[in-house]
Amino acid sequence: MYPTTVLNRARARLTQQAEQKRAVYASHLAQAYAEQPRLRELDRALRGTGAKLAASIFLREGDPTAEVARLREENLRLQAERRLLIQTALPDGYLDDSPVCADCGGTGYVGSRMCDCLEALCRQAQLESISALLPTGRESFAQFSLEVYPDRFFPHYQTSARMLMQKNLNYCKKYAAEFQPGARSLLFSGATGLGKTFLSACIAREVTERGFGVVYATAGKLFSDYESVRFERAEPETLQDYRDCDLLILDDLGTEMTTQFVVATLYEVVNSRLLAQKTTLISTNLNENDLEARYGGQIASRLIGSYRVIYFLGDDIRRKKP
Ligand SMILES: [Zn+2]
Repeated sequence: MYPTTVLNRARARLTQQAEQKRAVYASHLAQAYAEQPRLRELDRALRGTGAKLAASIFLREGDPTAEVARLREENLRLQAERRLLIQTALPDGYLDDSPVCADCGGTGYVGSRMCDCLEALCRQAQLESISALLPTGRESFAQFSLEVYPDRFFPHYQTSARMLMQKNLNYCKKYAAEFQPGARSLLFSGATGLGKTFLSACIAREVTERGFGVVYATAGKLFSDYESVRFERAEPETLQDYRDCDLLILDDLGTEMTTQFVVATLYEVVNSRLLAQKTTLISTNLNENDLEARYGGQIASRLIGSYRVIYFLGDDIRRKKP
């Protein structure tokens, strides 16, 4: 499900495309009338026979059959002349008054199903929205460098940071490639500067490109949005995207000022998305014990019990890059 803001933008674009197409048709028609006065006469005559035809069908007195037949024939003759005139006097496709999409007529829906044309616009709008939100907007798995993670063995973890990150990278790639709404939620846990944001951005981009609704926000932004609504500085719809999207990525949890309101909001977001079987990816510099100390046992147990926890190890990679 696409976030409401994305869906609205896509719908607005479809409407705009339909209007543009109508405007082009109207200007072409005016131009064609100016160059081919006969075309205007034909259109006027066609409107006349059309109206008369409609009227004669509902005629109560006498038998309308003969008159209806005559008008039909007249109508067909005018149409044939019009077609011929357009074919011979105007460039191909110049007077195209078909709807912007043949499948849905420009409404964006075929029955209750979203039409492919609107789906494509949603995908495009979602990609723009994600690119604008991500830290650089260009994150991709191909750019993820394992070189920056130390090779030395950590006995405590029974692995090296590089080995662990290779595993994480493989896991995230597969996760993004196979993502479906309702996929398992993820918790990225590790110190600042170990690539959590980068990898979550890679997932955001790929899942978006695969046509799913993704919202990316820092935890601080989400909490301040909830606060704005609470103090009526913003409309409740502001929060809709956080609820509706297929994948909510909450970056940098633990760097905010943790108040009671923050704890209550986090519980509400985590819990309601779990209940609605919506997928969430949270990245945090806190470990399990810190999570419990800061947000309480209820939230910590939900995160650790229902999310797949992925640990990040290494030295701060941002210091290694110029
Ligand atoms: Zn369509």
